[in-house]
Amino acid sequence: MSDATIIDGKAFAAGLRARLADQVARLKEAHGITPGLSVVLVGEDPASQVYVRNKGKATAEAGMKSDQFNMPETASAEEVLAKVAALDADPEVNGILVQLPLPPQVDSAAVINAIDPGKDIDGFHVINVGRLATGQESLVPCTPLGCLLMLKDYAGPLVGKRAIVVGRSNIVGKPMAQLLIRESCTVTIAHSKTQDLPGECRRADIVIAAVGKPEMVRGDWIKPGATVIDVGINRIERDGKMKLVGDVAFEEALTVAGAITPVPGGVGPMTIACLLRNTLHAACRQHGLEVPPETI
Ligand code: NDP
Repeated sequence: MSDATIIDGKAFAAGLRARLADQVARLKEAHGITPGLSVVLVGEDPASQVYVRNKGKATAEAGMKSDQFNMPETASAEEVLAKVAALDADPEVNGILVQLPLPPQVDSAAVINAIDPGKDIDGFHVINVGRLATGQESLVPCTPLGCLLMLKDYAGPLVGKRAIVVGRSNIVGKPMAQLLIRESCTVTIAHSKTQDLPGECRRADIVIAAVGKPEMVRGDWIKPGATVIDVGINRIERDGKMKLVGDVAFEEALTVAGAITPVPGGVGPMTIACLLRNTLHAACRQHGLEVPPETI
């Protein structure tokens, strides 16, 4: 059997970002609207700082307004909630993203649920979670949305396919499973208590790995020809060098799968592209405009 197709998330994301930039320009020209995303960063976690910087840069490159509000590690829950309330009330702000994790004195759920659901670009607000689960229009979490867009392109028709989502977090695993149910896949959700995980994976036409354990999913867990989406980002040391690897043993899976995302260059770039997509869609809906079909 020949090697799997490598799903080029970078190229896929570049295409989506170009279409988004085009639609942002049209929105400005036709309606004088510039979509705006505001990011709130509490504390100085280095990884969060990098993520927030990248999000800001991508937003600006798409022609959108990008604001970043830094709050100290010692900020109280009331101060963070007051910031969110101010952004909720600002009509120039179409999207709000509070970078997680938050420091322990701030209740993340309370902060997320204080965001106006129509501006909840991450799709984490309980109302958006409920809307997704009940098949209503909602803002959908960016990482699973990016996975779905790539799957739709590479896995052929999804209807009736057997999919396994390994991981049941609120930000990846659960919304991913909801999206696949919406596409009429038959979905298994696996987690740390699942028995015979290799056997469960071997039955699947689509494997989504979102575990956070380097190279846990082995090549002989994959059904020949399956589509594999690797969400994991793990930094490991190999041959004396630091390296990024996913949750799937890539080289092994490559010889069995039909298509597979690499790490890096797979799911990661699509997450940021979907953040921009959600911001544009939020801005359109807030102004009573149709969401551009080119960006769905
Ligand atoms: P969480 O730690 O929140 O969830 C991990 C899930 O994996 C849990 O449901 C856990 O099960 C399950 N799990 C852990 N160990 C095993 C095991 N041995 N067998 C089966 N299941 C197991 O992680 P996230 O969902 O936030 O992230 C997952 C990965 O995706 C991470 O590597 C993260 O860095 C990456 N990520 C990448 C993004 C991107 O843009 N590419 C964005 C977000 C995340 P249980 O519930 O039983 O504990």
